[in-house]
Amino acid sequence: MPRRWQALRRGTAVGAGTAKGGGHGGASVGAVPSDLPTPAEILAAPKVLLHDHLDGGVRPETVVDLARLHGYAELPTTDPEILAQWFTEQAWSGSLERYLEPFSHTVGVMQTADALERVAAECAEDLRADGVVLAEVRFAPELHTEQGLELDDVVAAVLRGFAAVGGIRVGTLVTAMRHAARSVEIAELALRWRDRGVVGFDIAGAEAGHPPTRHLDAFQLLHRENAHFTIHAGEAFGLPSIWEALQWCGADRLGHGVRIVDDVTADPVTGEVRLGRLAAYVRDTRVPLEMCPTSNVQTGAAASIAEHPVGLLRRLRFRVTVNTDNRLMSGVSLSSEFAACAQAFAWTWEDLRRLTLNAVKSTFCDFEERVRIMNDVIKPWYADHAAA
Ligand SMILES: [Zn+2]
Repeated sequence: MPRRWQALRRGTAVGAGTAKGGGHGGASVGAVPSDLPTPAEILAAPKVLLHDHLDGGVRPETVVDLARLHGYAELPTTDPEILAQWFTEQAWSGSLERYLEPFSHTVGVMQTADALERVAAECAEDLRADGVVLAEVRFAPELHTEQGLELDDVVAAVLRGFAAVGGIRVGTLVTAMRHAARSVEIAELALRWRDRGVVGFDIAGAEAGHPPTRHLDAFQLLHRENAHFTIHAGEAFGLPSIWEALQWCGADRLGHGVRIVDDVTADPVTGEVRLGRLAAYVRDTRVPLEMCPTSNVQTGAAASIAEHPVGLLRRLRFRVTVNTDNRLMSGVSLSSEFAACAQAFAWTWEDLRRLTLNAVKSTFCDFEERVRIMNDVIKPWYADHAAA
């Protein structure tokens, strides 16, 4: 079952008592922070999110509402609470292919400009309420044209939704579906909107049988235009997918990348950890890994949170980031993912600070904005609140 941060108990460590108290708005934590963060403290901390799907984070009430407004009759139930439960149950499927099935319903109700704008605005509101100060949210425009919207209409509607919400910076990633053949067209779309809120490109969908090199033309176009992109790789398929994404396609970041751990071995006698050449390349060149622990457990990419490679990769000093993937389907928030990992791996405030800095350094958003958020928001908050 998904670990929800509400269900996690407060850390048991005795407070280190070195925090200065601060006075940061919204941090009504009261108790002196210990070096083991509690769920409430994690919620208050400023966070950066790099991997979140718009169609995977729709509010269940909104799915029901939009289905009614637009005559979408395919939902399994019109009770938002039961629907939310249904989505998370479907997500515990054990395979990426089955995990992706329920997205037909969220995508099904996101076919008009009004619906897209509303879902985007609510997404920004929900992330802000979770303490996210900078987010990159991705979606595949080609999935939202069933009722006649043009690709540009889809992007414009989503950008309007994000722009309507203050107090959080949301950058948009435009995704192409890896089983389809529209990636060049979608890359051109990303370039057309690059100065108006679109900060990067991605490919997503079933990974096995759909290697990233199929979309080489799109990636080469983006390279020539000095644009940024990430690739879902090393989630449902192993090292060859990661290798292609990096060394053939030139990805700036890896979506998940969890299987890079297949290239990490421990000596059976000495226990010494050794990195293969690909793993060493990923670590040494600081390739950001957009890890999504609960989602990976649901699709079978990891056996449990405790056994998820994010703990090991963090210890080995890979550039790890923690992300949500699909908040509705996985029943998570960024705070809940951090809380689940903090509990599983005994992560301290120093771990959370570093993971947050990893994320802000790896964003595709404007450089000045990135530096401002790092220096004016994240570093001061941790200096004030987190015992080192
Ligand atoms: Zn994803």
